[in-house]
Amino acid sequence: MNSTLEQTLLSAIRTIPDYPKPGILFRDITTLLGDARAFRRAVDELVHPYSGTGVAKIAGIEARGFILGGAMAHQLSSGFVPIRKKGKLPHTTVRVAYSLEYGVDEMEMHTDAVQPGEKVILVDDLIATGGTAEGAVKLLKQMGADIVAACFVIDLPDLGGRKKLEALGVNVRTLVS
Ligand code: AMP
Repeated sequence: MNSTLEQTLLSAIRTIPDYPKPGILFRDITTLLGDARAFRRAVDELVHPYSGTGVAKIAGIEARGFILGGAMAHQLSSGFVPIRKKGKLPHTTVRVAYSLEYGVDEMEMHTDAVQPGEKVILVDDLIATGGTAEGAVKLLKQMGADIVAACFVIDLPDLGGRKKLEALGVNVRTLVS
């Protein structure tokens, strides 16, 4: 990615100190989403290596992964699969526990959302420790998905999430660090 694009994206992301708790620098992408040019460029950049490669589904992690994933699915003419916090999906689901900074939570996906062997791209706004994305990767693998890549606008490299996913054999694509 060229440095102009990186600058465009970085300047469109707002940082909120001490949110949601003291000591956290929250990287807020609502400003990027509200900037027509930055939003389009981010989505174009996320999808461009995968254009014409037969990606069947984009799997988005609740909630900001839904916004990016919907736009990516449209761009690639793929379907969209929501990966949600437990108790939100109405049909039969697979569920996995995943680790958060403090404690654990659970996420779910519909059992019929992905067929074995389908090419799937996972997306979320940001990867930090990688616990959330690791949970989503487990769900997709359980359903037999062929995970082409996991994509994020923002990487927080000091927290090791990228390495965690790469150790699981997942190709990781991020736009800014
Ligand atoms: P992790 O599981 O540690 O990789 O955390 C990733 C998830 O938490 C993503 O869904 C992010 O949206 C959210 N998240 C974690 N840290 C931040 C941060 N500093 N700013 C914004 N979102 C964050």
